[in-house]
Amino acid sequence: MVIEITSLSHTFNGSHEALLNIPRLTLGNRSFVSIVGSSGSGKSTLLRIIAGLLSPTAGHVSLDGHSPQQKRDAGELAFIFQSPTLLPWRTAMQNIVLPCELQGGRLSRRQQDVHGLLSLVGLSEDDTRKRPAQLSGGMQMRVSLARSLITRPELMLMDEPFAALDDILRIQLQDEVRRIHCEQKIASVLVTHNIREAVAMSDRVLVLGDKPAQITTDVTVALPAERDSDVRRSREFQGIVNQVTDALYQVV
Ligand code: ADP
Ligand code: MG
Repeated sequence: MVIEITSLSHTFNGSHEALLNIPRLTLGNRSFVSIVGSSGSGKSTLLRIIAGLLSPTAGHVSLDGHSPQQKRDAGELAFIFQSPTLLPWRTAMQNIVLPCELQGGRLSRRQQDVHGLLSLVGLSEDDTRKRPAQLSGGMQMRVSLARSLITRPELMLMDEPFAALDDILRIQLQDEVRRIHCEQKIASVLVTHNIREAVAMSDRVLVLGDKPAQITTDVTVALPAERDSDVRRSREFQGIVNQVTDALYQVV
């Protein structure tokens, strides 16, 4: 999926000061793009506009030539947020299939596809019979990931999805989401304030400067597709982290 952003700007509550000002930006096309910026810079707002959850004050976003709302209604967008937002009274499996139920069965998956999905996100059959309260935070995140992938999305939109997790789990899930992105060829957009996370997961990192938020730096992450621990420890990785850090210091 190709995301095209044109003359986008946004203000809240009729304020004269623009929060966002993005003349032109093309994302997606099966790549993994991260947007980094300081807290309050407008990252979530930008992602919500791309997702069609918020209408911009001016300009527009098109996803393969369609409106974000159309793509969302067709089940082609997946959202992954910091909180897994699972329904506590449903089992993990009942949570995972919820989007299919909401689409009136139009997007139903065959049993074997669901099995494939569980192994993709690292859940056992046993886990899927439990309710959210019986699962650890990491497992809840995997259930949330499976639920967002069940409609076979073409675009994954992530807003600081791992911010509440401990370091080890965080790195594990970063690697797994990157692997899923590569295997399933899903275009991915991640917003985060974590520079190492952005570099580890992406093919491209955009730096968002404040007031109004605009893309000040566009860094290509020229690292091997598979980001194992050797890649994370490499001089090249650290070089790109430094480059993004310097760009962020210039805008805050
Ligand atoms: P980030 O995700 O980068 O931390 P946000 O996009 O959440 O930043 O917010 C950017 C700015 O817009 C902040 O100053 C925030 O207070 C303001 N903002 C966000 N949502 C709203 C809203 N619904 N109404 C008014 N102001 C908002
Ligand atoms: Mg945010």
